[in-house]
Amino acid sequence: MAPSPDKHYQARILERRDLSPDLWIVRIDPGGPFEFRAGQYATLGVEHEGKRIERAYSIVSSPYEESLEFFVELVPQGGLTPDLFKLKKSDTLLCRKIAKGRFTLDLRSGRKHHLLVSTVTGIAPFVSYVRTLYRDWKKTDSPLPGDHKLYCLQGASRSWEFGYREELERYSNEAPWFKYVATVSRPWEDLDWNGETGRVDDLLRKYADEWSLRAEETTGYLCGHPVMVENGRGILERAGWKKDALFEEVYFQQAKGGTDGTG
Ligand SMILES: Cc1cc2nc3c(=O)[nH]c(=O)nc-3n(C[C@H](O)[C@H](O)[C@H](O)COP(=O)(O)OP(=O)(O)OC[C@H]3O[C@@H](n4cnc5c(N)ncnc54)[C@H](O)[C@@H]3O)c2cc1C
Repeated sequence: MAPSPDKHYQARILERRDLSPDLWIVRIDPGGPFEFRAGQYATLGVEHEGKRIERAYSIVSSPYEESLEFFVELVPQGGLTPDLFKLKKSDTLLCRKIAKGRFTLDLRSGRKHHLLVSTVTGIAPFVSYVRTLYRDWKKTDSPLPGDHKLYCLQGASRSWEFGYREELERYSNEAPWFKYVATVSRPWEDLDWNGETGRVDDLLRKYADEWSLRAEETTGYLCGHPVMVENGRGILERAGWKKDALFEEVYFQQAKGGTDGTG
Protein backbone atom coordinates (compact mmCIF):
# COMPACT_ATOMS: atom_id res chain seq x y z
CA MET A 1 0.00 0.00 0.00
CA ALA A 2 1.44 3.37 -1.00
CA PRO A 3 1.65 6.17 1.56
CA SER A 4 -1.45 8.34 1.59
CA PRO A 5 -0.64 12.08 1.66
CA ASP A 6 -3.76 12.54 3.83
CA LYS A 7 -2.39 10.32 6.55
CA HIS A 8 1.39 10.37 6.24
CA TYR A 9 4.20 12.85 6.27
CA GLN A 10 7.55 12.27 4.64
CA ALA A 11 9.69 12.60 7.74
CA ARG A 12 13.43 13.19 7.61
CA ILE A 13 16.21 12.00 9.89
CA LEU A 14 18.02 14.88 11.53
CA GLU A 15 20.36 12.98 13.80
CA ARG A 16 21.20 9.43 14.76
CA ARG A 17 23.19 8.06 17.68
CA ASP A 18 24.00 4.36 18.03
CA LEU A 19 24.33 3.01 21.58
CA SER A 20 25.08 -0.62 20.78
CA PRO A 21 24.83 -2.91 17.74
CA ASP A 22 21.06 -3.09 18.20
CA LEU A 23 19.97 0.12 19.93
CA TRP A 24 19.87 3.62 18.58
CA ILE A 25 18.38 7.04 19.19
CA VAL A 26 17.02 8.99 16.27
CA ARG A 27 15.65 12.50 15.85
CA ILE A 28 13.33 13.26 13.00
CA ASP A 29 11.63 16.23 11.47
CA PRO A 30 8.11 14.78 11.14
CA GLY A 31 7.53 16.75 7.93
CA GLY A 32 4.58 18.89 9.13
CA PRO A 33 2.67 19.94 12.23
CA PHE A 34 2.57 17.11 14.74
CA GLU A 35 0.71 17.45 18.02
CA PHE A 36 1.04 15.02 20.87
CA ARG A 37 0.98 14.66 24.63
CA ALA A 38 3.92 13.32 26.61
CA GLY A 39 3.56 9.52 26.71
CA GLN A 40 1.92 9.11 23.30
CA TYR A 41 3.38 7.26 20.34
CA ALA A 42 3.95 7.98 16.67
CA THR A 43 3.49 5.49 13.85
CA LEU A 44 6.62 5.26 11.73
CA GLY A 45 7.14 3.25 8.60
CA VAL A 46 8.88 2.67 5.33
CA GLU A 47 7.81 1.63 1.90
CA HIS A 48 9.48 -1.55 0.88
CA GLU A 49 9.05 -2.97 -2.62
CA GLY A 50 5.71 -1.19 -3.00
CA LYS A 51 4.49 -2.34 0.42
CA ARG A 52 4.09 -0.08 3.41
CA ILE A 53 5.14 -1.38 6.78
CA GLU A 54 4.46 0.58 9.96
CA ARG A 55 4.89 0.21 13.71
CA ALA A 56 4.24 2.23 16.87
CA TYR A 57 7.12 4.09 18.59
CA SER A 58 6.80 5.96 21.87
CA ILE A 59 7.95 9.54 21.57
CA VAL A 60 10.95 10.38 23.76
CA SER A 61 10.93 14.12 23.12
CA SER A 62 8.65 16.53 24.90
CA PRO A 63 5.91 18.40 23.04
CA TYR A 64 8.02 21.55 23.66
CA GLU A 65 10.72 20.28 21.27
CA GLU A 66 10.54 20.90 17.56
CA SER A 67 11.79 17.53 16.40
CA LEU A 68 10.62 14.08 17.45
CA GLU A 69 13.00 11.70 19.17
CA PHE A 70 12.79 7.90 19.36
CA PHE A 71 14.74 5.12 21.04
CA VAL A 72 14.65 1.98 18.90
CA GLU A 73 15.76 -1.61 19.28
CA LEU A 74 16.65 -3.70 16.25
CA VAL A 75 14.71 -6.96 15.98
CA PRO A 76 16.83 -8.80 13.41
CA GLN A 77 13.97 -11.00 12.18
CA GLY A 78 11.44 -8.13 12.36
CA GLY A 79 9.37 -6.63 9.56
CA LEU A 80 10.32 -2.97 10.06
CA THR A 81 13.33 -2.40 12.30
CA PRO A 82 15.92 -3.89 9.89
CA ASP A 83 14.78 -1.23 7.38
CA LEU A 84 14.71 1.55 10.00
CA PHE A 85 18.17 0.51 11.10
CA LYS A 86 19.58 1.22 7.62
CA LEU A 87 18.40 4.84 7.65
CA LYS A 88 21.04 7.55 8.03
CA LYS A 89 20.94 11.29 8.56
CA SER A 90 18.85 13.01 5.81
CA ASP A 91 17.08 9.79 4.77
CA THR A 92 13.28 9.84 4.76
CA LEU A 93 10.64 7.63 6.34
CA LEU A 94 6.89 7.73 6.81
CA CYS A 95 5.28 9.26 9.87
CA ARG A 96 1.52 9.20 10.43
CA LYS A 97 0.22 12.70 11.04
CA ILE A 98 -1.69 11.73 14.19
CA ALA A 99 -0.12 10.70 17.48
CA LYS A 100 -1.95 8.05 19.47
CA GLY A 101 -2.03 6.43 22.86
CA ARG A 102 -3.34 6.90 26.39
CA PHE A 103 -0.14 6.18 28.29
CA THR A 104 -0.02 9.74 29.55
CA LEU A 105 0.67 10.97 33.06
CA ASP A 106 -2.31 10.45 35.37
CA LEU A 107 -3.01 13.90 36.79
CA ARG A 108 -6.72 13.23 37.32
CA SER A 109 -7.14 10.34 39.74
CA GLY A 110 -5.88 12.29 42.74
CA ARG A 111 -2.93 9.92 43.21
CA LYS A 112 0.12 12.10 43.57
CA HIS A 113 2.85 9.52 43.23
CA HIS A 114 3.80 7.90 39.95
CA LEU A 115 5.90 4.75 39.82
CA LEU A 116 7.40 4.42 36.33
CA VAL A 117 8.88 1.02 35.46
CA SER A 118 10.57 0.18 32.16
CA THR A 119 12.83 -2.15 30.27
CA VAL A 120 15.38 -0.55 27.91
CA THR A 121 13.45 1.39 25.19
CA GLY A 122 10.38 1.39 27.45
CA ILE A 123 11.94 4.44 29.11
CA ALA A 124 10.82 6.55 26.11
CA PRO A 125 7.44 7.83 27.36
CA PHE A 126 8.90 8.48 30.81
CA VAL A 127 11.66 10.67 29.37
CA SER A 128 8.93 12.62 27.60
CA TYR A 129 7.01 13.10 30.87
CA VAL A 130 10.10 14.21 32.74
CA ARG A 131 11.42 16.55 30.04
CA THR A 132 8.01 18.19 29.85
CA LEU A 133 7.57 18.56 33.60
CA TYR A 134 11.15 19.73 34.08
CA ARG A 135 10.67 22.47 31.54
CA ASP A 136 7.41 23.59 33.21
CA TRP A 137 9.06 23.48 36.62
CA LYS A 138 12.06 25.51 35.45
CA LYS A 139 9.87 28.10 33.78
CA THR A 140 7.74 28.79 36.78
CA ASP A 141 9.96 27.47 39.55
CA SER A 142 6.76 26.28 41.21
CA PRO A 143 5.94 22.80 42.42
CA LEU A 144 4.22 20.47 40.01
CA PRO A 145 0.43 20.68 39.93
CA GLY A 146 -0.71 19.20 43.20
CA ASP A 147 2.81 18.22 44.24
CA HIS A 148 3.11 15.18 42.03
CA LYS A 149 6.24 13.05 42.39
CA LEU A 150 7.72 10.65 39.85
CA TYR A 151 9.76 7.56 40.77
CA CYS A 152 11.42 5.81 37.85
CA LEU A 153 13.06 2.38 37.58
CA GLN A 154 14.76 1.24 34.38
CA GLY A 155 16.17 -2.21 33.69
CA ALA A 156 18.58 -3.33 30.99
CA SER A 157 21.03 -6.17 30.50
CA ARG A 158 24.05 -3.85 30.49
CA SER A 159 24.55 -0.20 31.37
CA TRP A 160 25.22 1.11 27.84
CA GLU A 161 21.65 0.14 26.94
CA PHE A 162 20.00 2.73 29.21
CA GLY A 163 20.17 5.53 26.63
CA TYR A 164 19.03 8.32 28.95
CA ARG A 165 20.71 7.51 32.26
CA GLU A 166 22.89 10.62 32.45
CA GLU A 167 20.00 12.90 31.55
CA LEU A 168 17.63 11.27 34.06
CA GLU A 169 20.25 11.32 36.81
CA ARG A 170 20.74 15.04 36.20
CA TYR A 171 17.01 15.65 36.68
CA SER A 172 16.91 13.46 39.74
CA ASN A 173 19.87 15.31 41.30
CA GLU A 174 18.18 18.64 40.76
CA ALA A 175 14.42 18.16 40.95
CA PRO A 176 12.91 17.22 44.33
CA TRP A 177 9.97 15.61 42.52
CA PHE A 178 11.94 13.01 40.56
CA LYS A 179 13.89 9.87 41.47
CA TYR A 180 15.60 7.49 39.08
CA VAL A 181 17.29 4.12 39.59
CA ALA A 182 18.84 2.06 36.81
CA THR A 183 19.49 -1.64 37.22
CA VAL A 184 21.63 -4.05 35.21
CA SER A 185 20.62 -7.71 35.00
CA ARG A 186 23.91 -9.04 33.59
CA PRO A 187 26.57 -7.38 35.73
CA TRP A 188 29.07 -10.11 34.79
CA GLU A 189 29.03 -8.65 31.27
CA ASP A 190 29.49 -5.11 32.59
CA LEU A 191 32.27 -5.23 35.17
CA ASP A 192 32.54 -1.44 35.56
CA TRP A 193 28.90 -1.14 36.64
CA ASN A 194 28.60 -0.39 40.33
CA GLY A 195 24.93 0.54 40.49
CA GLU A 196 21.89 -1.60 41.25
CA THR A 197 21.76 -5.15 39.87
CA GLY A 198 18.91 -7.54 39.15
CA ARG A 199 15.85 -7.45 36.96
CA VAL A 200 13.69 -4.42 37.27
CA ASP A 201 10.59 -6.39 38.27
CA ASP A 202 12.59 -8.10 41.03
CA LEU A 203 13.44 -4.65 42.43
CA LEU A 204 9.92 -3.28 42.37
CA ARG A 205 8.98 -4.24 45.93
CA LYS A 206 12.29 -3.04 47.33
CA TYR A 207 11.97 0.43 45.79
CA ALA A 208 8.23 0.76 46.41
CA ASP A 209 9.09 0.20 50.10
CA GLU A 210 12.20 2.39 50.09
CA TRP A 211 10.29 5.27 48.51
CA SER A 212 7.28 4.62 50.82
CA LEU A 213 4.92 4.29 47.87
CA ARG A 214 1.44 3.22 48.95
CA ALA A 215 -1.04 1.71 46.55
CA GLU A 216 -3.78 4.23 47.34
CA GLU A 217 -1.54 7.18 46.53
CA THR A 218 0.45 5.82 43.59
CA THR A 219 -0.28 5.14 39.94
CA GLY A 220 1.95 2.42 38.46
CA TYR A 221 3.16 2.55 34.86
CA LEU A 222 4.75 -0.50 33.23
CA CYS A 223 6.35 -0.09 29.82
CA GLY A 224 8.30 -2.32 27.46
CA HIS A 225 8.91 -6.05 27.52
CA PRO A 226 5.70 -8.13 27.90
CA VAL A 227 7.19 -10.44 30.57
CA MET A 228 8.29 -7.50 32.71
CA VAL A 229 4.85 -5.91 32.35
CA GLU A 230 3.12 -9.12 33.38
CA ASN A 231 5.44 -9.77 36.32
CA GLY A 232 5.32 -6.13 37.38
CA ARG A 233 1.54 -6.10 37.32
CA GLY A 234 1.40 -9.27 39.45
CA ILE A 235 3.83 -7.86 42.01
CA LEU A 236 2.01 -4.54 42.31
CA GLU A 237 -1.43 -6.18 42.46
CA ARG A 238 -0.24 -8.44 45.26
CA ALA A 239 1.04 -5.33 47.03
CA GLY A 240 -2.44 -3.79 46.92
CA TRP A 241 -2.57 -1.87 43.62
CA LYS A 242 -6.02 -1.92 42.01
CA LYS A 243 -6.35 -2.50 38.26
CA ASP A 244 -7.37 1.10 37.58
CA ALA A 245 -4.16 2.34 39.22
CA LEU A 246 -1.95 0.38 36.81
CA PHE A 247 -1.19 1.63 33.30
CA GLU A 248 0.57 -0.58 30.76
CA GLU A 249 2.29 -0.10 27.42
CA VAL A 250 3.31 -3.51 26.06
CA TYR A 251 5.73 -3.13 23.15
CA PHE A 252 5.19 -6.51 21.51
CA GLN A 253 3.60 -9.91 21.91
CA GLN A 254 6.12 -12.52 22.72
CA ALA A 255 6.78 -15.01 19.91
CA LYS A 256 6.25 -18.67 20.85
CA GLY A 257 9.43 -20.11 22.33
CA GLY A 258 10.89 -16.58 22.83
CA THR A 259 13.15 -15.87 25.79
CA ASP A 260 12.06 -13.75 28.70
CA GLY A 261 14.97 -11.40 28.05
CA THR A 262 13.59 -8.64 30.18
CA GLY A 263 16.88 -6.90 30.50
C1 LIG B 1 2.54 1.63 21.86
C2 LIG B 1 3.86 1.03 21.42
C3 LIG B 1 5.03 1.77 21.54
C4 LIG B 1 6.24 1.23 21.12
N1 LIG B 1 7.39 1.96 21.29
C5 LIG B 1 8.58 1.43 20.93
C6 LIG B 1 9.79 2.17 21.13
O1 LIG B 1 9.80 3.30 21.64
N2 LIG B 1 10.97 1.59 20.74
C7 LIG B 1 11.01 0.33 20.17
O2 LIG B 1 12.10 -0.14 19.82
N3 LIG B 1 9.88 -0.39 19.99
C8 LIG B 1 8.67 0.15 20.34
N4 LIG B 1 7.52 -0.58 20.13
C9 LIG B 1 7.62 -1.86 19.39
C10 LIG B 1 7.52 -1.56 17.89
O3 LIG B 1 6.22 -1.11 17.57
C11 LIG B 1 7.82 -2.81 17.04
O4 LIG B 1 7.01 -3.86 17.46
C12 LIG B 1 9.27 -3.24 17.15
O5 LIG B 1 10.13 -2.18 16.73
C13 LIG B 1 9.56 -4.47 16.27
O6 LIG B 1 9.15 -4.18 14.95
P1 LIG B 1 9.58 -5.13 13.74
O7 LIG B 1 8.63 -4.83 12.62
O8 LIG B 1 11.03 -5.02 13.42
O9 LIG B 1 9.33 -6.60 14.29
P2 LIG B 1 7.96 -7.42 14.13
O10 LIG B 1 7.84 -7.90 12.73
O11 LIG B 1 6.82 -6.57 14.65
O12 LIG B 1 8.19 -8.59 15.15
C14 LIG B 1 8.88 -9.80 14.79
C15 LIG B 1 8.93 -10.73 15.99
O13 LIG B 1 9.80 -10.19 16.99
C16 LIG B 1 9.14 -10.08 18.25
N5 LIG B 1 9.58 -8.78 18.80
C17 LIG B 1 9.15 -7.56 18.46
N6 LIG B 1 9.83 -6.61 19.15
C18 LIG B 1 10.70 -7.27 19.94
C19 LIG B 1 11.69 -6.87 20.88
N7 LIG B 1 11.91 -5.57 21.18
N8 LIG B 1 12.41 -7.83 21.51
C20 LIG B 1 12.22 -9.12 21.23
N9 LIG B 1 11.31 -9.58 20.34
C21 LIG B 1 10.56 -8.67 19.71
C22 LIG B 1 7.65 -10.09 17.95
O14 LIG B 1 6.97 -10.74 18.99
C23 LIG B 1 7.58 -10.91 16.68
O15 LIG B 1 7.50 -12.28 17.00
C24 LIG B 1 6.29 -0.07 20.57
C25 LIG B 1 5.10 -0.81 20.43
C26 LIG B 1 3.92 -0.29 20.87
C27 LIG B 1 2.65 -1.12 20.74
